[in-house]
Amino acid sequence: MTLGEFLSRHFSGPEHSAFRDSITRFVEGYNAADLSKVSALAIREEWSQDDEPEQRRPAGGYGQLMEHLLAQVLQQGVTVHLSSIVSHIQWQPGKVVIETTDGNSYSAQKVLITVPIGVLQHERITFTPAIPAYLEAAKNIGFGSVIKFLLEFKTPFWENLVARPVHNMGFMLSDATIPTWWTQLPDTTPLLTGWLGGPSAAQLHTGAEQMLNEALRSLSYIFDCSVDLLRQQLRHWYISDWKNDPFACGAYSYATIETPRAREILNTPVADTIYFSGEAVYDGPHTGTVEAALVSGREAAIKMLHAYSEDVEN
Ligand SMILES: Cc1cc2nc3c(=O)[nH]c(=O)nc-3n(C[C@H](O)[C@H](O)[C@H](O)COP(=O)(O)OP(=O)(O)OC[C@H]3O[C@@H](n4cnc5c(N)ncnc54)[C@H](O)[C@@H]3O)c2cc1C
Repeated sequence: MTLGEFLSRHFSGPEHSAFRDSITRFVEGYNAADLSKVSALAIREEWSQDDEPEQRRPAGGYGQLMEHLLAQVLQQGVTVHLSSIVSHIQWQPGKVVIETTDGNSYSAQKVLITVPIGVLQHERITFTPAIPAYLEAAKNIGFGSVIKFLLEFKTPFWENLVARPVHNMGFMLSDATIPTWWTQLPDTTPLLTGWLGGPSAAQLHTGAEQMLNEALRSLSYIFDCSVDLLRQQLRHWYISDWKNDPFACGAYSYATIETPRAREILNTPVADTIYFSGEAVYDGPHTGTVEAALVSGREAAIKMLHAYSEDVEN
């Protein structure tokens, strides 16, 4: 059953309202998931993992990971075509022709598709002949929304210019419309990052200026200061709305009740010719992460190599 059903079946009474709120806030904010779709069992599995893995990230950003992988493939003689938007794939067993929106086409024996699952769900890439079971499977994987607000200020105003000051702020969790904010500590750059995940992010379909206003209203509520002060302090801002990015169509995946079967389908190549990988297709404990994407890509590449060597032998 979904987590929403589970809560209303077993924890519907008023005595559980704080519990329901806290679960809802976490699952919507962190998993970017919709309670009416996310599998209760998947959330239980995630929360039952014995050891909370140590949180690590590459110093200097994930760009280095991409550069490392790029250097490796270039050494292997791979050609990379950037800014090429795939719109259509024509295929038959053992042959694919990939068409891009700039009118180019590329042919190969096999293709590995690694676009975000939201791109497949919105059918931004079409197939001839059609592969309806695969697109149906893609639609059965949950894919949440996240809006990230990056606001750089002239000074760390939250320490001394507001009625409710906060010193050494790391993470701030609140009940404001944009509830979660963090600083760059130990780096002291006066940059605040705001985070809105799940259905609330999907509903905030407004222009960038309105979203900025919403972010400033949230900060004014949290720190008890005027929006005017925040505007005076604001130096630069950038808002990334992943749901409305045509190359993402969402943030990262979560498991619905149908997802285990959907992943099985997408992990089964179409006639040893069309393969899928990416974080949403990964089946393991680290869903929705860079690691999931890497593991899934590696497994698909190994599968393709085996199939190639079988083709050669035959
Ligand atoms: C706001 C946010 C915060 C996150 N934080 C973390 C975190 O802290 N740690 C973590 O591990 N993970 C995090 N993630 C998740 C992580 O970014 C993803 O799981 C990972 O990037 C997925 O990798 P992927 O290769 O499957 O897809 P992507 O990295 O999305 O790559 C897919 C590529 O396909 C391209 N593409 C799309 N459409 C087309 C088309 N038609 N033709 C050609 N190319 C196309 C896209 O441009 C993109 O480059 C976060 C995600 C978001 C949105």
